[in-house]
Amino acid sequence: MDLTDLSASLHNCQRCRLSSGRTRVVFGTGNPQADIMFVGEAPGFYEDRQGEPFVGAAGKLLTELLQSVGLSRADIFIANVIKCRPPNNRDPLPDEIDTCKPFLLQQIECIRPKLVCTLGNFATQTLLEKKVGITKVRGQVIQLPNFIVFPLLHPAAALHQGNLRGPLLEDFKKLKSVLDGMNQSAAPPTEASSPLPSTSSQPENATQSEPPMQLTLF
Ligand code: URA
Repeated sequence: MDLTDLSASLHNCQRCRLSSGRTRVVFGTGNPQADIMFVGEAPGFYEDRQGEPFVGAAGKLLTELLQSVGLSRADIFIANVIKCRPPNNRDPLPDEIDTCKPFLLQQIECIRPKLVCTLGNFATQTLLEKKVGITKVRGQVIQLPNFIVFPLLHPAAALHQGNLRGPLLEDFKKLKSVLDGMNQSAAPPTEASSPLPSTSSQPENATQSEPPMQLTLF
């Protein structure tokens, strides 16, 4: 199944209670062949109305942060763990995450990104399959079998708690160095660089700046 078929298959999803209160299923938007994906938590009020992720205040901040690291929304693919808005923007419930998670994994399988940036606790814990706090793992390069997870604070958290704005900017600075490393390792070798191919399957920066964590370490 490709991304378009997957999106169509969820258009009228009734698998969980959230279907009764939503206006639209928010599948995700962006480049279906992106190297970089961003994953948030769940649609909010404006996302539910428009059917697109991150179009409210947190989305505006995300767009600015992306621009600060040289990315546009058209370069990446943005999705959420949960595709339908929870009532009053409450946290997703465990059974709602269990129901929707396979579709996030299928999106990742279709897009085959190199890097998945998880925004906040829910996206991070869902992809790492571990109840680890975002404040503990943010800014770390975590190698999974098929892609790297890079957890960041959620932009909405920084909007609600002004003291998280600095840490969020720090996370994006680290992301910039991860992206620079990915671009370097993707570039053809120049005369100045080593003619030998790298034996590492990871982006060079990931090993240069901070080694990828083993999941068993936290
Ligand atoms: N917050 C999220 O996690 N996702 C959205 O789409 C909007 C706000």
